[in-house]
Amino acid sequence: MKTTIINYENRSFLMKKLLTICPVCKKPIYGRDIDILSLISSKIDHWPINYVYCHTYDNYPLHSLTIYLDSNFSVRGYEISDFIVVEK
Ligand SMILES: [Zn+2]
Repeated sequence: MKTTIINYENRSFLMKKLLTICPVCKKPIYGRDIDILSLISSKIDHWPINYVYCHTYDNYPLHSLTIYLDSNFSVRGYEISDFIVVEK
C-alpha cells in the first residue's frame, strides 16, 4: 500500500491548491474548502474517493458537487445535483 508522507509545505500547498471550478456556479474550490487535511489524516485505502461538497455561491441556490479525487488530490471527474435533502 502506498504511504504518502505529507510535510508542512505540502499541507499548506494542498490547502491553497485549486482542485476544480464548480461547473454550475463557477466557484473555485480549494483544498481548504473540502477540509483536505482531515482527508489526509483519515485512513483511505481506496482511490479515487468521492467527496460531496454542498454549497451556495454567487446567488446560485444550494447544489452539490461530487468530486472524484485520486491519491494525488487531482480531480478525476465530477457530478452535479440540484436535488438535495439533508436530514438532521
Ligand atoms: Zn457550485
